[in-house]
Amino acid sequence: TDKSGTMLYLNGVSVSFDGFKALNHLSIIVHPGEMLAIIGPNGAGKTTMMDIITGKTRPDDGEVYFDGRTDLTKLDEAQIANLGIGRKFQKPTVFESHTIWDNLVLALKRPRSVLAALLYSESPEDKARIEEILETVRLTARKDELAADLSHGQKQWLEIGMLLAQDPKLLLVDEPVAGMTDAETVETAKLLKQIARTRSVVVVEHDMSFVRELGTRVTCLAEGSVLAEGSLDQVSANPIVIERYLGR
Ligand code: ADP
Repeated sequence: TDKSGTMLYLNGVSVSFDGFKALNHLSIIVHPGEMLAIIGPNGAGKTTMMDIITGKTRPDDGEVYFDGRTDLTKLDEAQIANLGIGRKFQKPTVFESHTIWDNLVLALKRPRSVLAALLYSESPEDKARIEEILETVRLTARKDELAADLSHGQKQWLEIGMLLAQDPKLLLVDEPVAGMTDAETVETAKLLKQIARTRSVVVVEHDMSFVRELGTRVTCLAEGSVLAEGSLDQVSANPIVIERYLGR
C-alpha cells in the first residue's frame, strides 16, 4: 500500500509481551484532516497501538509512518512529540493551582519552569492564539479561574487546549468522555469535530453514544488486529463485532 498522502500509516504492526501478541499485523491509515474512532474490547490492543505511535513501545515488526514519510520506529518519544503528535491520556493532568489562562501559557511557551512562565508576558500573537484555543475548548468565560475549580469534563477540555497550544498535526485522545456528564459528552464530540477540521484525530472510546455523536469512521480492534472498519452502523451490524464486543 501507498503511504503518500497519509497522516498516520501503520502496516502489519506486531508486538508481543512475554510471548503474548498484543498487536498482530495491525494496519491502520488516517488521512490529513480525518477523525478515526477506535473501539474494541479490553485487551484488544488500543492502548498498545497508541504507545507504538508515540514511541513509548517499539514494534517487533511492521511499519509506522507519520505524514507519509517519517518512520516513527526510528524516533524516541520526545522527537515524535516534536513532530506534531499530541497525546491525551485518560486522566486530565493540568496545573490545578494555576489559572486556565496560565495553563495555556505554560503549554504554549513550554518554559523551563513555572516561575519563568509567570514572569513572561505574552505577545499579542500568543494572546490571540490562547483566546482562540479558549473558544475551541469552551473555557473563555472561565479563563481567570483556577484549573482546580473546573469540573472533570472541563479539565479534559483544558488539557485538549494545552495540546492544541503545541499545534499538533495529529491528536491522539484516549477515552475523553469517561466520567463526563451527558451534556459535556455531547459538547466534547462537537469540539473534537471542530478540531478535526484542521488536524487528524484518533479517538479511543468505549462510549458508543459518543462515537455516534462523532459521526466518523470507526475501526474495531480485537486481539491486536482490525476486526471491522466502516461507519458505526456498518461496524456495529457486523456479527463478529456483536459477538466479540458489543454483545457482551
Ligand atoms: P486495550 O487498550 O485495547 O484494552 P491494551 O493495548 O492495553 O488493550 O492491551 C493489549 C494486551 O497487551 C493486554 O492483554 C495487555 O495485558 C497486554 N499488555 C499491554 N501492555 C503491556 C506491557 N507493557 N507489558 C505486558 N503486557 C502488556
